[in-house]
Order: sequence, then structure tokens, then C-alpha cells
Amino acid sequence: PSVFSAIEMAPRDPILGITEAFNADTNPAKINLGVGVYYDDNGKVPLLSCVQKAENILIEQPAPRTYLPIEGLAAYDKAVQELVFGADSAVVQERRAITVQALGGTGALKLGADFLKRFSPSSDVYISDPSWENHRALFESAGFKVNNYTYYDAATHGVNFEGMLASLKAMPQGAVVVLHACCHNPTGADLTQQQWDQVIDAVVTRGLIPFLDMAYQGFGAGIAEDGAVVRRFAATGVPLLVSNSFSKSFSLYGERVGALSVVAASADEAARLLSQLKRVVRTNYSNPPVHGGKVVATVLATPELRQLWEDELAAMRVRIKETRDTFVKKLKEKAPQHDFEFVRQQVGMFSYSGLTKEQVAKLREQSIYAVDTGRICVAALNSRNLDTVVDAIAKVL
Ligand code: PMP
Repeated sequence: PSVFSAIEMAPRDPILGITEAFNADTNPAKINLGVGVYYDDNGKVPLLSCVQKAENILIEQPAPRTYLPIEGLAAYDKAVQELVFGADSAVVQERRAITVQALGGTGALKLGADFLKRFSPSSDVYISDPSWENHRALFESAGFKVNNYTYYDAATHGVNFEGMLASLKAMPQGAVVVLHACCHNPTGADLTQQQWDQVIDAVVTRGLIPFLDMAYQGFGAGIAEDGAVVRRFAATGVPLLVSNSFSKSFSLYGERVGALSVVAASADEAARLLSQLKRVVRTNYSNPPVHGGKVVATVLATPELRQLWEDELAAMRVRIKETRDTFVKKLKEKAPQHDFEFVRQQVGMFSYSGLTKEQVAKLREQSIYAVDTGRICVAALNSRNLDTVVDAIAKVL
């Protein structure tokens, strides 16, 4: 037998598994609500105009494809850092923040996880219950023990905030706490600003290491509003990691554009952190790809394109909000005995719909695909499939 002969089949990714089943379904009216992607009202992944315009600019200035620096394109790192922390923030002004281009939000999390494992090896990691399913796997594969902190309350369809605070207060000093900056995936339940005050206070007092994951900036209340919590954490002066992704906000999923930022206590410390973070990059993939970084940097640094991006992102955000409203209104008509009002309070692309595993299975018999947990992607609903979905849900309730 070879070294490979005893290797077992790995478990299927639950979300990608839904897509496989969906693709195999021959019903032309099939609907996939299991995805984590924004679709427009025509059910298409948009190609943003700001991206097309930036690509046109880049094509007019053809450049050789040399390696980027290990930390990525300088113009990209600068633009991202200013977007995430604010150009006039103390951490940027005092050169205490470092930002490294990463392979999407996932790549940023992995860089941060490997970095933390090297310099805080005995920390435990805490993720929300529930969380994006890759959080656990990612930190475990970096060598951490991963625990849950209390988060979602199925009874209220909101955050069990007392429980969350109690979890935070029970964490050992130096623990890494992964927080969704906005648009919590998978529940759609976010904290209020007052609740964030208390979370920040608990993190600072207990000496925890906050790792903010921001994959949906601009899909909640707005770019600045969604990013506010990052700036507030940065202002406390505690060591902080921030992963951010442009997969959704630029509709650039396949280009793998994201970044990891780390806030240090001083410019000198920041320089040392950067040198170490570059080593993590170097031993993983050496340096990031060029195209997506150039597109995003061009958009963010060109005032007309940036305005266009903000408008296009606002349009995506507004469409999701309106879809929530229509969804709830139509459910009220078709299933008046059930209260779905909470769907309007949820934020971002997802909704924990409250549908049970059995109900999800019944929906699948009607070629409507959702996650077993009841998570649906609101951004996959549109004016043509909404009635079908509402009718199907009313039938399985
Ligand atoms: N964090 C969260 C909370 C996510 O939902 C996702 C997936 N969109 C990511 C990180 C990863 O982002 P990316 O697709 O850019 O790797």
C-alpha cells in the first residue's frame, strides 16, 4: 500500500454541496438560496461599472506582469488601509497600522491565523455560535483550539447579548476573539452601537485579542457606518487584526482581493510586525496576484470611480433591503399566522429564516435550495422568483 492508500474521503463542504445538488437538478425553475453571493434582480452576478472602467484604464496602460512585493501593491495597501481605518485616523497618521494584500477575506484570515500562531501560540480562539463555517476550520488548521462564544438567540431571531457578554467575560486573557464587523454570516443579526460599546469594553478590560472580520462592508447601513466598529476598536490602542474582503463589495469573487491589517502600539512595532507578516506570506504563496489589486486600487484612488463604486454598492444594499421588505410583506399575505418581521431587522446578505432542517428538505423537493440551518441568501431573491419562494415556504410551514 502507498502512503495515499489509507486516506479517507474528506467531508463535503456543506454550502458547496448545496450548489452541487442544485447544478444536478434538471428542473428549469430551480432556485438556489444557499449561495453566499450577491445576485442582481436578473439573477446575475453583477460586473460593476466601476470595475469595467478601471479595467479599461488598465488596458490602455499595458504593463509587464512582474512580481508584486510580498505585501502586495503599495497603492492597494494604502487605499485599503485608509478605507478601513480612515486616512486621518491616529493609527494611520502614526504609522501604527500595517496592511498586507491578501487572497480574499479567507486569505487574510489565514495570514492572521498563521501570524497569531507564531506569536501567541497558546491563545485559544473564540468564534460566534454560529459563525461562517470556515472560521473554525481555518483557525484549527493553523493549530488553534477553537471555541464558540454565545451569539445567536433562535427564540428572538436576534443576538443573545447577555450571553455574549458573559462569554467574553469568561475568556482567558490573551484569547483571540473573532468578531463579525457587520452583516453577521450566517444569521444576519448584528450588534447595536451601544452593544459594541460594551463588547469593546469587555475586550479591552479582559486583554483579549480582537480579530475583526469584515467581508460585507457597505451591505449593512453604509460603507462608513459598517466600518465604524473597526475604527472604534483601533482607537482603543489594543492590538487588533482586521481582515477585509472585496469579493462582495466589488463583486470580484474570483479575483481574490482582500487584505489583512494589524494595529501595533508604535510605528517601530508595526515595522517589526510587517517584516514577520511578510515571512508568513513568503512561505505560503510568496506574493499576491496583480489584477484584482490594481482594479480596486484604481477605483478607490480615482474620485469619479470611487463615487461610482459607492453608488453601485449602495444600489446592491438597497435592493437587498427592499427585497427583505417585499419578502416579509408577501409572507404576511400567504402565511399570516407566522411572523417574519424579524427578517427586516436582519442585516446584510443573509437571513436565518427560522426554517427547520425538515422544512428546508421539503423546499428542496420543490427545487428550492437553502442551507440546512435555514440560512437563505436574500440577495438570491428577485422579482421573478420571490412569489415562487414565498408560496413554497408557506406550503412547508
Ligand atoms: N468572512 C466571512 C464572514 C465570510 O462570509 C466570507 C465569505 N464571503 C469570508 C470571510 C471570505 O471572503 P472571501 O470570499 O473574500 O475569501
